[in-house]
Amino acid sequence: MTSSQAMVLENAGGPLVMRTRELPLPTGQQIVIRVLACAVCRTDLHLMDEELPDIRYPIIPGHQVVGEVVTCGPEASSEPGQLVGAAWLGHTCGSCDHCTRGSENLCDAARFHGYQIDGGFAQHMMADSRYCFPLEDGTDPLATAPLLCAGLIGYRAFSKAGDAAHLGIYGFGAAAHIVCQVAAQQGQKIYAFTREGDEEAQAFARRCGAVWVGSSTDAAPVPLDAALIFAPVGALVPKALRDVRKGGSVVCGGIHMSDIPAFPYADLWGERQISSVANLTREDGREFLELARRLTINTEVHTYPLAAANDALRDLREGVFSGSAVLVPG
Ligand SMILES: [Zn+2]
Ligand SMILES: [Zn+2]
Repeated sequence: MTSSQAMVLENAGGPLVMRTRELPLPTGQQIVIRVLACAVCRTDLHLMDEELPDIRYPIIPGHQVVGEVVTCGPEASSEPGQLVGAAWLGHTCGSCDHCTRGSENLCDAARFHGYQIDGGFAQHMMADSRYCFPLEDGTDPLATAPLLCAGLIGYRAFSKAGDAAHLGIYGFGAAAHIVCQVAAQQGQKIYAFTREGDEEAQAFARRCGAVWVGSSTDAAPVPLDAALIFAPVGALVPKALRDVRKGGSVVCGGIHMSDIPAFPYADLWGERQISSVANLTREDGREFLELARRLTINTEVHTYPLAAANDALRDLREGVFSGSAVLVPG
């Protein structure tokens, strides 16, 4: 048994409360991870606000975890002492059409860390070793934790945009600041759209390599090849469609979005496309972590002790910081 403190969502709406949990010895492929850092995601706010279906209470949120393996089940693919990352995907069936066609992110029986499986807002976390990513010795837990959702989901959205020479990003938070650096280092031009008058986010976008910054009500200065929407604002979809060229695509990267208002068919015509990104596959994780090793990605991190998880969530909601909030259990 491992005794662990955790910030638990016991009822709809929260707040999170500190509880002591006893983790049993891992069996099969399971491992117990000592959490070194867990980044906070907008999805954690959607969880708190009951904007996701079928939330299991009580639940420990957190799906961007870097930690050290402490104990392993007899069939686990990890070893004690190894550094691992745990992301959103925690379980799939392995046998449905989606799973066997390489789209395990769409598995109907999938379960997710910090949503249906207790996550990383805790000192320790139990996970299936097959869904954890081995990390190199010397990996910086603080800098790496935000890569595991913001980076991964951002990367999946980015991949769907193809090799857009002119790429718009709408909503400049955790995912955008990572994608922007990846795209800029690959020679793509980034146009960042933020809330009107959000000069801090605009300065942040410039630091991450954007060639143009403006408000989400401004028209794009050039026709865009693709647009990534990370803000949970449905009205941005028709706006982004008007900014992309014929044949261009608009990719929605969030798990939740307000309703998309009606718009004229002419805005979609010309073979423009709208798509969404759901979850991630383990292959996305392996590809992106490999890419991140080759590029220089500076994650802007704001740390909070585990007990201050509610403060971190509030600050994310209020847009107090740019970049990512990361909980450090200590
Ligand atoms: Zn499946
Ligand atoms: Zn997330």
